[in-house]
Amino acid sequence: KAKGAGRKSFHVYEATSRYDHVENFIHELALSSAIELEEFELHYQLIYSPQQQCVVGAEALLRWNRANIGMVQPAEFIPITEQTGLIVPIGYWVIRKACQDWHQLVEGYGEDIRVSVNISSVQLSEPDFVDRIIEILEQENVPPHAIELELTESTVISDSQGVRQTLSRLGAVGFSIALDDFGTGYSSLSMLTLLPIDTLKIDRSFIREMNESVLSAMLVMAGALRMKVIAEGVEDAGQYEMLRAMNCWGIQGYYINKPVALAALQQVPV
Ligand code: C2E
Ligand code: MG
Ligand code: MG
Ligand code: MG
Repeated sequence: KAKGAGRKSFHVYEATSRYDHVENFIHELALSSAIELEEFELHYQLIYSPQQQCVVGAEALLRWNRANIGMVQPAEFIPITEQTGLIVPIGYWVIRKACQDWHQLVEGYGEDIRVSVNISSVQLSEPDFVDRIIEILEQENVPPHAIELELTESTVISDSQGVRQTLSRLGAVGFSIALDDFGTGYSSLSMLTLLPIDTLKIDRSFIREMNESVLSAMLVMAGALRMKVIAEGVEDAGQYEMLRAMNCWGIQGYYINKPVALAALQQVPV
């Protein structure tokens, strides 16, 4: 709703408390100049393939290093940027930075490495989203197949027509599409077959539970739909071993590495 109001106007929050209201308002003021002030950073988490025994990807996770405050986590500021439309310019900043970082990732992990970028529904509904991201990739000299776009189930099922068209265009150009936090939303199986989805990212709540029949059902289904599966939130050797034994394509989580700045990835033993 506030999106159409433009980037310079301020959203009036339905605050649950006076404190929330003021806190969000102050964040919002600071967020509108955070790109210019170069306060954003991307941290990376590796995606490891137990079969190939190598790193196959890295997910870019946005961090806001706010002046005089310190590091702010996405849960605290992404919703504000979505409500105000600020996620649109910030999202393009993320894509450009991830493209620049991809060249460095290739140095470390080889040409086949992909960088995953989270995309919110607000970004996807920008009419020129596809053109803009193609333009950014061209400027940064990155092939679309090097980028995986992560969308949540709620994004993908909302406004099916428009979203479906945008996803098809992205797929046709060569981007890879992942369904993030899979299992927490309401996507139907038939919907999965209608969309050009390459990868299912199983939400970490399922990894925590480690219900073997549920996980193996997800893996069988993904296999039948010719989708890769990445397990999120893998924290220990027990979880890793079980997923490896089940032939899960990719493993992501603190067991491999906590999100770190690009330069610090070199220290991650893989
Ligand atoms: P996500 O895309 O599902 O990212 C995974 C989140 O799980 C990250 O939280 C990551 O730090 C955390 N995580 C990874 N491994 C583990 C683990 O083993 N255990 C536990 N407990 N947590 C783990 P983070 O970085 O706080 O990001 C939260 C969410 O914010 C992301 O969830 C994504 O939806 C959103 N987000 C992050 N960066 C961006 C961005 O650039 N654009 C947009 N639109 N959303 C973003
Ligand atoms: Mg993600
Ligand atoms: Mg996720
Ligand atoms: Mg998540």
